[in-house]
Amino acid sequence: MSNRNGRPVFATTNPATLEDGRSYPGDSADEVALKVRRSVSAQQQWRRTAFEERTARMVAAARVLRARRDEFAALMTDEMGKLVADGRAEIDKCASACEHFAAQGARYLARESVDIEGARAFVTFNPIGVVLAVMPWNFPFWQVFRFAAPALMAGNGGVLKHASNVPGCARAIESVFRDAGFPDGLFATALVKSEAVKALIEDAGIAAVTLTGSVEAGRSVAAIAGGVLKKCVLELGGSDAYVVLEDADIGAAARVCAAARMVNGGQSCIAGKRFIVVREVRAAFEEALVAAMRGYEMGDPRDPATRLGPLQSVAARDQVHAQVEASVRAGARLLLGGVVPAQRGAWYPPTVLSGVAAGQPAHDEEVFGPVAAVIEAADERDAIAIANASEFGLGSGVLTRDLARGERIAAEELDAGLSFVNDNVRSDPRMPFGGVKHSGFGRECGAFGMREFVNIKSVHVKL
Ligand code: NAP
Repeated sequence: MSNRNGRPVFATTNPATLEDGRSYPGDSADEVALKVRRSVSAQQQWRRTAFEERTARMVAAARVLRARRDEFAALMTDEMGKLVADGRAEIDKCASACEHFAAQGARYLARESVDIEGARAFVTFNPIGVVLAVMPWNFPFWQVFRFAAPALMAGNGGVLKHASNVPGCARAIESVFRDAGFPDGLFATALVKSEAVKALIEDAGIAAVTLTGSVEAGRSVAAIAGGVLKKCVLELGGSDAYVVLEDADIGAAARVCAAARMVNGGQSCIAGKRFIVVREVRAAFEEALVAAMRGYEMGDPRDPATRLGPLQSVAARDQVHAQVEASVRAGARLLLGGVVPAQRGAWYPPTVLSGVAAGQPAHDEEVFGPVAAVIEAADERDAIAIANASEFGLGSGVLTRDLARGERIAAEELDAGLSFVNDNVRSDPRMPFGGVKHSGFGRECGAFGMREFVNIKSVHVKL
């Protein structure tokens, strides 16, 4: 939708009630180009600031986030249906990430000496410029801060193109950096649709791009960035496999798997989506999983006690339901849920599918909702083979009482960027985060993430 000035309009809809929310006028192409130029000019100064100065600003950003936690959580609930309790926790996590990179940034980017005879040689990590961030709606604050905190601490600028359904969050994030005293325009939000991304990537002021989103969007952004030879980091979809071995504590495993599946109502890239269970414990696991999933009752996302809110939109809900129905038609059995509730809003109940196999959407595709797929495996080897026979490779898990066995499988066998034993996969500012295969490339978080958007420069001084 565009208004008469050719600017896009961003209208929001509350997914719990389908009531219209606020509308935001977007930016014209000229305004976006100006924002990029301003960020470039601010970054020229910012790149020369000492880490102490950047640290002070980033700690101030954490303060602003905490002070406005309830306001931001309510905004996420209104725009994309997040549980308010989860929204508050998300804001706290963003604040912690700001503090983490404020405290560790200088260490992560400290010069590294290299022993070379007759020379003083070292590696420096210099900022690369202004980075474009194309971000999704599912963790509207966290996805942005886990990019922005290390990128700004490294001396870069940032331009955010957020998902079209969270314009209020996009504006709010810009205000956090402004209120924290970052230089004017260093971090800017461009309220534009995805069609504007090409021109942004091609803008001479943009040095690199990071995208978190779907495989299709990743493919498009990578092609455009490749065309102008700019670096990109891609955090894409996932269909995390959790391998449940015969020696697992079945009750505990089912609770971990249910929690993994139900993160953000199932709308998380690193949600456990495929539960690959060794035959001899499959029936017991299914019974425990159904009991655990049943505990996620749907309710008002504004109530802090609610465990399952609406999905982000009716279209997204319909897509999840279509995947469930097609899986059932292809041979899966419904153990729980799978029926669209007769109530206004983007609601979908906790759902468990058994007998999931290749050829079914629940097996082959990412299902972005509260749907757990149980796949039977003959033994450990078979389970690992099924887990790895996926186009995705983001998170993964192993459930076993034998920690050495779990560690071996997690560390060496599963083709994924993250592998957790007896716990559900979570991002953490201290640990690198990212995927392999169609889940993307590059890393966020930790020292590895911080070094994505720097010039790793070799300096050699002859003595
Ligand atoms: P999406 O449609 O790809 O949208 C993500 C962002 O990309 C939005 O800002 C969107 O803008 C933009 N976009 C969409 N198509 C584009 C294109 N062709 N060129 C340039 N930009 C484009 O993703 P989504 O469905 O909202 O989000 C869910 C997906 O993201 C899932 O697959 C999920 O697994 C993945 N995800 C991955 C991670 C991770 O860290 N690996 C984290 C969260 C989510 P508009 O909104 O304007 O279309």
